[in-house]
Amino acid sequence: MKLNVSEALSHPGQEFPFSGTQAIAEQEIGGDLVRLEDAAVEGSFLSDEDGNISVRGTVRTTAHARCAKCLEPAQAEVRNEFDETFIRAGDPEDPEIFAYEGHEVDLDRLVMSYAVMALPIRFLCREDCPGLQYRDPDVAPAEPGIQYPFAGLRQLLENNEEV
Ligand SMILES: [Zn+2]
Repeated sequence: MKLNVSEALSHPGQEFPFSGTQAIAEQEIGGDLVRLEDAAVEGSFLSDEDGNISVRGTVRTTAHARCAKCLEPAQAEVRNEFDETFIRAGDPEDPEIFAYEGHEVDLDRLVMSYAVMALPIRFLCREDCPGLQYRDPDVAPAEPGIQYPFAGLRQLLENNEEV
């Protein structure tokens, strides 16, 4: 998501509202994949006398991952507020700052960072999820990639019965 800051540069100190959506790449967190829906971003920006652009606003999205207890799909609402300054002609390689050149401020890294920062430490399908220990292994879905502690054992037993 990009902001055209031409107007702000010619009117330092004047605030310009903006809103939009931005796609956020799937994140791997603690070995688990977290998928994020397109983020809704809104806020305002203004330029100082030196052409540095302050951007503040809100990122909102929904994140999807597996429940930490039962491994079923779980989701979490993600919301975070940001207030950052993009340094005009700053070093784009410097991870400590946000930088921009010309008349466009690219919000991709900012939106992604603030969305990821606000992710829950672990996802739960519901507050009181009892976890795997109460699951009946007979009803465990045979989805590839999802680990059930007894699935391998059951497979072994079934294979042996066929011999
Ligand atoms: Zn659960």
